[in-house]
Amino acid sequence: MRIGVVGGGPAGLYFALLMKRQNPAHSIRVAEQNPADATFGFGVVFSDRALGFLEEADPESYQDIEAQLQTWDDQAIVHRDQEVRIDGLGFSGIARLQLLQILQAHCRDAGVELRFEQRISDLDTFADCDLIVGADGANSVVRGAYPEWFQPSLQVLSNRYVWYGTAQPFDCLTLTFRENHDGAFVAHHYRYGEVRSTFIVECDASSWERAGFGGMSEDQSRRYCERLFAADLGGHPLLTNRSLWINFRAVTNRNWSYRNVVLIGDALRTVHFSVGSGTRMALQDSVALARAFAGTQDVEQGLRNFEAVRRPQVEEFLKVAAESFQWYERFRDKLSLDPLPFTYDYVMRSGRIGHARLAQRSPRFAAAYGTYLSQRTAVTAVPGTDK
Ligand SMILES: Cc1cc2nc3c(=O)[nH]c(=O)nc-3n(C[C@H](O)[C@H](O)[C@H](O)COP(=O)(O)OP(=O)(O)OC[C@H]3O[C@@H](n4cnc5c(N)ncnc54)[C@H](O)[C@@H]3O)c2cc1C
Repeated sequence: MRIGVVGGGPAGLYFALLMKRQNPAHSIRVAEQNPADATFGFGVVFSDRALGFLEEADPESYQDIEAQLQTWDDQAIVHRDQEVRIDGLGFSGIARLQLLQILQAHCRDAGVELRFEQRISDLDTFADCDLIVGADGANSVVRGAYPEWFQPSLQVLSNRYVWYGTAQPFDCLTLTFRENHDGAFVAHHYRYGEVRSTFIVECDASSWERAGFGGMSEDQSRRYCERLFAADLGGHPLLTNRSLWINFRAVTNRNWSYRNVVLIGDALRTVHFSVGSGTRMALQDSVALARAFAGTQDVEQGLRNFEAVRRPQVEEFLKVAAESFQWYERFRDKLSLDPLPFTYDYVMRSGRIGHARLAQRSPRFAAAYGTYLSQRTAVTAVPGTDK
């Protein structure tokens, strides 16, 4: 087959690699608008679940990815300067650029043609292809050029966020909540290298307005956030990489493909960063699409196979992601809770896990919360009665 891939992010590169491994006779071209060594953002985090499927899909690239992973077991929530640990979660972080460069190297070795600094504005470049894959991210040109094909929907969230890096090496995935005279803010931060961490700051619309971020330059915003999270940054500055405030855009598409054109990764749907799964989902799309063509060269059949397997998984996970972003859209109202019940509320936000399951998965946190509740009951009970 002749295959054209628009976008050399995780989804496009991994799909190209898996298809070439599956059948070296495929001719595969990837067009990426950026140079090979440029990317947005800093590091990404994977939940433990991601690692098994990467190893299974392509052990060779997995070996290189695994060697670069920073891993940790707990998640931490910092509220009113008190840290609460949630055990038993298991996450890994990696620099986004490192991940891309590993995938690029494996693609090249396998014989995938990578064309950098080639921006695609329509699909004429790939007119000779049997299959065209739109892996061009959240602002997909492929999707945007053919809205009548894909029928996308867009939900713009009211919170805003900005993506920074820092040299402060946090020891686990942490959410730090801070309030000041302007409002309420949360930083999502985690280590992705020995001395490199991602640091995403998020706030509601009214905190953003009051802080005056709309009138600030990139550097002024950065310095405001540095002051706000000074206690957490340990004297390290925040680092920018086109770090602009944006509203998260939850994208879905009614149709996943049209004729021989299919969307994967963020072009197909975005996954809120609070569930740390956008890259995993993008890579899983690539695995599913490659597998859909394992037994057939018939494009229509392959795309039907892909959607039949992948759509139910994606739709289920998008419900979890929506419950998570709705929690963040309301987090300011919850800050009156003490750190333990606040953390409990956060942990239970998807409504997918009951207390018994939590006690199994995170026994230390469940026990700490149990102790908090019994102490509260003891304090509020009237002495000498059995209330
Ligand atoms: C703030 C933030 C934090 C995040 N944190 C995490 C996290 O911790 N864990 C996680 O798993 N995910 C995270 N994500 C999500 C993750 O970044 C995406 O889900 C993932 O990158 C999707 O991969 P992709 O290959 O589909 O798209 P992208 O990574 O966006 O790649 C698309 C590629 O296509 C290229 N491109 C676009 N248009 C064109 C064109 N017209 N022609 C040629 N090339 C083009 C782009 O340059 C880019 O390289 C986060 C996202 C955000 C915004």
